[in-house]
Amino acid sequence: MTRIAVSGAAGRMGKMLLEAVERDEQASLAGGVVRPDSSLVGADAGELAGLGRLGVPLVGKLDEIIDDIDVLIDFTTPTLTLANLALCAERGKRMVIGTTGLDDDQQAALADYAGQVPLVFAANMSTGVNLSLNLLATAARALGDAGFDIEVIEAHHRHKVDAPSGTALMMGRAVAEALGRDLQKDGVFQRVGHTGARSAREIGFSTVRGGDIVGEHTVLFAAEGERLELSHKASSRLTFGRGAVRAAHWLMTRDAGQYDMQDVLGLK
Ligand code: NAD
Repeated sequence: MTRIAVSGAAGRMGKMLLEAVERDEQASLAGGVVRPDSSLVGADAGELAGLGRLGVPLVGKLDEIIDDIDVLIDFTTPTLTLANLALCAERGKRMVIGTTGLDDDQQAALADYAGQVPLVFAANMSTGVNLSLNLLATAARALGDAGFDIEVIEAHHRHKVDAPSGTALMMGRAVAEALGRDLQKDGVFQRVGHTGARSAREIGFSTVRGGDIVGEHTVLFAAEGERLELSHKASSRLTFGRGAVRAAHWLMTRDAGQYDMQDVLGLK
């Protein structure tokens, strides 16, 4: 049994994570962490997730339950994720991190903690997206220097606060690495006004935000006369939750280090 707590339990992902842990026969739910000032503190995690009463508490501070867990799953904000990671490092706990939007300094801090903590950090925990990274690298090697322009298009719900999505960046990076390109230099994140013609090396990103779209990503390889589109569409957040629980089990036998879902799924 892997004993798991969920940080950000009241969030859109939090409820899905509670459900994914509870439904998994090899996992047991130790608790959910919500904001300390939330009216949900003291309530039942199962009732929050629509699973009925489970007798599992919602707490306002990770400190209250950390000694009772093997793994913390955290899909929240970069600042809270790093604070939780510091506590997990101190108490010798593992962590699965799905939070996106970390800046370069925050990613460097996370990598430092990985010297002490076994952690999985992935902007997208779905099996389909992680497999698509391999397919994209293959497509990029075959097409990217053969007259095909590459564009990444993503769509998410209206509440998403970072852009482009962490998954779009992962896909862009997979393509760039396969072609020896550098997203810092070759990524184009905005086009407005008189932009001039597109260069052959650039990898463009377009962002759509609206309604309740769970997450859609397309990488377009467009040449004169034909185009190939590799698309992934998530229709339920439970898919990310299941991936996170799978990552939590996988971490139980790992030493300290930073891993991603490609490692977990054996796709490397
Ligand atoms: P959300 O806004 O619904 O949830 C965030 C949660 O964090 C909320 O419950 C909020 O109360 C909590 N939180 C924030 N600051 C806090 C604090 N200081 N103390 C306690 N709680 C705090 O967002 P969401 O849609 O659930 O997404 C959360 C993150 O997960 C985002 O970064 C999103 O991009 C990412 N995400 C990742 C994947 C993946 O597969 N890796 C999938 C979906 C979403």
